[in-house]
Amino acid sequence: MNETRGALRSYLKGREALGDPELFLSSGNRRETLEQVRNAGSGLAGGEGTGLDAADLARKGSREDILGIPDMDSLRKVAEACTRCGLHSTRTRVVFSDGAPDAKVLCVGEAPGANEDRTGLPFVGRAGKLLDRLLLSVGFPRAEVFICNVLKCRPPGNRNPLPEEIHACSPFMLRQLELVKPTVIVAFGTFAAQTLLGCRDSLRHLRGRTHLYEGFPLVVTYHPAALLRNPGWTRPTWHDLQLARRIVDGDLGHTTSRVDAENETPGVEPDGGQTGVKDQLILGGRDG
Ligand code: URA
Repeated sequence: MNETRGALRSYLKGREALGDPELFLSSGNRRETLEQVRNAGSGLAGGEGTGLDAADLARKGSREDILGIPDMDSLRKVAEACTRCGLHSTRTRVVFSDGAPDAKVLCVGEAPGANEDRTGLPFVGRAGKLLDRLLLSVGFPRAEVFICNVLKCRPPGNRNPLPEEIHACSPFMLRQLELVKPTVIVAFGTFAAQTLLGCRDSLRHLRGRTHLYEGFPLVVTYHPAALLRNPGWTRPTWHDLQLARRIVDGDLGHTTSRVDAENETPGVEPDGGQTGVKDQLILGGRDG
């Protein structure tokens, strides 16, 4: 009996982490009902009959499971137990997000660094402080935006994320996006921009105009860490953030906007605004 209780408890805990805390029991006598509970637990635990905790479920959770999680708290719990790629074995903390879950602006960086890995919060080091100042300069206080990274765990030594890590982690970012439903996404740095847009174009080429990611307007700009090394890029970054500001304010049709890369002034693309505004996503698509 204790074993059955344990199996049921850990099974329900796992389901709850995935946002589906209910177990449907068809009517039957006591023995049949207990059998159902045992089967529910053992089936998900790979037939070992030992039950399932949130970590087990997260490891086994498919992309579709993650995309079906109904709320941010459940998504966070599953991410915090995630073992879908090798980074789980070297991380200190999962860095899920910071800021407002109903934000109009969703900021995406690359991956946590050492400070983020230690604190569990994105963009808290020197680059993060600069990010806060940049956002504030266009009227977006940090507490009012949603900040996350493509990867939720730190790659050892801050090495570049591997394709399999991006693939494993991307459903979390996609679901975050679907739940926040921002007015605009801002991708910081080449990696976030290329990953979201599924291309290898340079940042210089991608910035200064509005793209679409999963139907959401997306603005690309320099990574704050790059600005620390190249302060000359601060001004163009500020212009990109102003573009995001105008999208939030509804000051422009977001599929036709462009800041001219040469003189950094708002303009219109030569083809009337259609260039580069197609939905270019490959990574975040549900089939991706
Ligand atoms: N760089 C990033 O891309 N993300 C962080 O959270 C910190 C540094």
